[in-house]
Amino acid sequence: MADPVVIATWPFGKSAVEIAGKQLADGKPALDAVIAGAKAVEDDPQVRSVGFGSLPDRIGRLTLDSCVMDGKTLNCGAVAGLEHVRNASAVARRVMEKTPHVLLVGEGARWFALQEGFKLEMPHTLEGIREWFDRHPDKKKDGEKKDAARVIHGPDDINVDISEFNHDTVTVLGLDKSGSLGGVCTTSGLAYKLPGRVGDSPIIGAGLYVDDQAGAAGATGVGEEIIRIGGSLFMVEQMRAGKTPQEACELAARRVNATAVRRGKHPANCAFIALSPKGEVGAAATLKTNFEFAVSIGGKVELRKAREIGPEM
Ligand code: ASP
Repeated sequence: MADPVVIATWPFGKSAVEIAGKQLADGKPALDAVIAGAKAVEDDPQVRSVGFGSLPDRIGRLTLDSCVMDGKTLNCGAVAGLEHVRNASAVARRVMEKTPHVLLVGEGARWFALQEGFKLEMPHTLEGIREWFDRHPDKKKDGEKKDAARVIHGPDDINVDISEFNHDTVTVLGLDKSGSLGGVCTTSGLAYKLPGRVGDSPIIGAGLYVDDQAGAAGATGVGEEIIRIGGSLFMVEQMRAGKTPQEACELAARRVNATAVRRGKHPANCAFIALSPKGEVGAAATLKTNFEFAVSIGGKVELRKAREIGPEM
């Protein structure tokens, strides 16, 4: 019998660990518990980067990305670019359970969700649309208000600096009483992303990886850089090789830094969390990410600040 543990990204992950922690205490499997926790964040319209009410892409479309993974069976499922369906993590789980595939995207993901009985819903909130309009990068560029629906005029509008775009993801990792791990990662990705852009969050091995024999790991931050280092699989393999979850997260942050330096770029904001099969947790981030995470251990829920790792000189 293991003592249940849950860890989730960002302060808004607190509601996720509270819900998942209770379910684990009741003996529920890790995957059920973490998906129930993530759903609370997806359903919260105040969280503008996960689920409904998030900030849309550059042309006003709100698309969702998510993946789930079970550490016992290594079963996994994902959706990317899913529109008009509220809980992307629930659809990702159905992909895992009902199809021979791992990842469905766009129109195909929505079609599958409809076959599975999910409802189509209007994804925007008034507050979300207002924030999208007010902070639109096209408007910021020259200080004057433009028609935000016409933002992609040509190449100059496509290859823009994404580092200031609003983003954040809830990634939830759990260890259940039977000693099994489960994880989920769910997001709307980067606000103002180009239509069709997919980050790390629905990519098994990038935004999430879970293996009972080694550990669970997840990520948040600029998805392009997390994909570039294969973030979550990298951390799980570090744990398999004997590193603690804390060491694995710090190594991932160092890898982001080193990769950026090698490419002559400034390291992006990226943050990592990990959980070992013994219930040890870890977290780390690149400099100035200000990453806080939520944990539930022995029924006690708290927010912690992650260690920040700077580039090596
Ligand atoms: N990783 C997410 C993405 O790139 C965003 C985030 O977690 O901040 O889509």
